[in-house]
Amino acid sequence: MSADRSARQIATALSRLSLFLRSAGWQAARAAGLTPTQAEILTHLARRGPARGAELAAALGVTAATLSDSAAALVAKGLAERRPDPADARATLLRPTGEGAALAGAMPEAPAVLLEALAGLPQADRAGLARGLMLTIAALQTARAIPVQRICATCRYFRPHVHSDAEAPHHCDFVDAAFGDAALRLDCGDHEAAPAERAAASLRRLRDAA
Ligand code: SF4
Repeated sequence: MSADRSARQIATALSRLSLFLRSAGWQAARAAGLTPTQAEILTHLARRGPARGAELAAALGVTAATLSDSAAALVAKGLAERRPDPADARATLLRPTGEGAALAGAMPEAPAVLLEALAGLPQADRAGLARGLMLTIAALQTARAIPVQRICATCRYFRPHVHSDAEAPHHCDFVDAAFGDAALRLDCGDHEAAPAERAAASLRRLRDAA
């Protein structure tokens, strides 16, 4: 199959999965008494900590107006609160209340049926999928088609293919440990952006070492 045709087939599959995930996300949000955007804001805050409105809007890919309306609804429901930003007296941070954090914690990160399907894949397939998704996300980021994601490939702690062990060729300087493609992080709380040149070099090495 040509590369173009293969790319279209994969894009179609991703589109189907996206529909499934969106539908599952709506159901989970509705069960929690939230709109999908409110649920995304709440889980984002619970997992990543307090954030300014502009940061949240950029991270979630929504407009400032949508973010503002949804944040106000969360505050009105007692699930989030605004606090002064210690770094800037003119700014405020949105953070979950105890009730909001508990609600976010009870919401599934992903549908159980999908997690089971992925966990059931052979290790080599999971590794290839993680690597392929990371390279795809990085390319979309470079094209400014999606918000910046916290992936290994653009992290200052990531050193790809520095070990001879084919099962664990990469190194994370943050935890000082070797790891393999299956453990590549696509959303890491410890991510710190590498300088652009270094991130580009990491991506090249990750792609060319296949
Ligand atoms: S800190 Fe996280 S994103 Fe960075 S290299 Fe380590 S695992 Fe990857």
